Amino acid sequence: MEQTYFRKGFGLKGEIQGALDDDYHSAVVDEVRARGYAVTVGDVTVRLAQEFGFCYGVDRAVEYAYETRTKFPDRRIFLVGEIIHNPHVNAKIAAMGIESIARSPEGAFDFGRVSAQDTVILPAFGVTRDDFERLHALGAVLVDTTCGSVLNVWKRVESYARDGFTAVIHGKYQHEETRATASQVTQYPGGRYLVVRDMAEARLVCDFIEQGGGDGGTAEDLRARFQAAASPGFDPARDLVRVGIANQTTMLSSESLAIAAELRRAMVKRHGAAALGEHFRSFDTICSATQDRQDAVVRLLQDSVDVVVVIGGYNSSNTSHLAALCAEKLPTYHIQDAACVDPATGTIRYMEVGAKAEVEARDWLGAGRRTVGVTAGASTPNNKVGETIERIFATRGIALAAALAAGVAPGQ
Ligand code: SF4
Repeated sequence: MEQTYFRKGFGLKGEIQGALDDDYHSAVVDEVRARGYAVTVGDVTVRLAQEFGFCYGVDRAVEYAYETRTKFPDRRIFLVGEIIHNPHVNAKIAAMGIESIARSPEGAFDFGRVSAQDTVILPAFGVTRDDFERLHALGAVLVDTTCGSVLNVWKRVESYARDGFTAVIHGKYQHEETRATASQVTQYPGGRYLVVRDMAEARLVCDFIEQGGGDGGTAEDLRARFQAAASPGFDPARDLVRVGIANQTTMLSSESLAIAAELRRAMVKRHGAAALGEHFRSFDTICSATQDRQDAVVRLLQDSVDVVVVIGGYNSSNTSHLAALCAEKLPTYHIQDAACVDPATGTIRYMEVGAKAEVEARDWLGAGRRTVGVTAGASTPNNKVGETIERIFATRGIALAAALAAGVAPGQ
């Protein structure tokens, strides 16, 4: 019988490595790394965070997509949504003839064009149980690139649902990963979830738990507030008696931990410390790659940096959180692509933290000695990081590649 489900690669790395290097490798990044993550030319220093860019899950998903094209040269290949949230990577995937299936305005994927003769790639953040079952029923070959760290969160959420705990997920309810994670509760009858976006939303939930209403509002207020972010039929009085905490893997880890602590406190207040085990479970499900990038950017900010450039898709959750961490301390420019830095005009196009539209800044690098911190989200390929670094130097009229070839001293 033909195998129709793959999740372990096809062993074709050797055949695709050349294409991966062409599409994503950067000699500039290699050089900056070799120089201790800093390079100075003239008055400009660029300091690179020590962890940035493609994480292990994205590396694997992108490789697997390239392998899929090689493995099935004659099949039509679809991709559910985006392989990751990066426009450059998604354009490369599209150029290989892999068609992205978009979400309808109502939020469901339309699999109407998929048949048993096709191959469908599932992205690194996974798909909902319903989407998986619909695709499986169509008989298409499924290539599942869901990251192992996402699968770990699913296991945790499943165990909450199995044991009668509502999964409270710190995340963005519209995000693919959180939708897929939340859907895991449907494996058990009565499985429930609630997605909280931030501490302010978590506080509403805590107030309700502590007081059964009061400042947190009534059950009706809470139901209305979380209508789109909770399982159907969400009933605060019933569903907030036993809760288990999980999070989207790419959230700000400090906020996830604080939210878990706050809910724990609320449960102790309501039910007493002795009964905590019956009402509260918690597990930090931030992935190690996200944690490493957030830790590295905190260290970068301690390094006499004047301004930070953060590279990654505007809809990339982990990139937005890196930008938010930087913006607390320094002028920060979250750019979607290297092309946002325009040396000819001295401008930079960027998204402010929490904003919905790109804006442009003039003379952003200023004059005199400047140190620019650079980092990139887990979905940003190295060539876009390298191009950005070159464009930062070019904004001061410095040709970095030529300077490196001439052997400039390593950055201080
Ligand atoms: S950010 Fe973490 S969970 Fe998401 S793909 Fe990367 S390693 Fe996996």
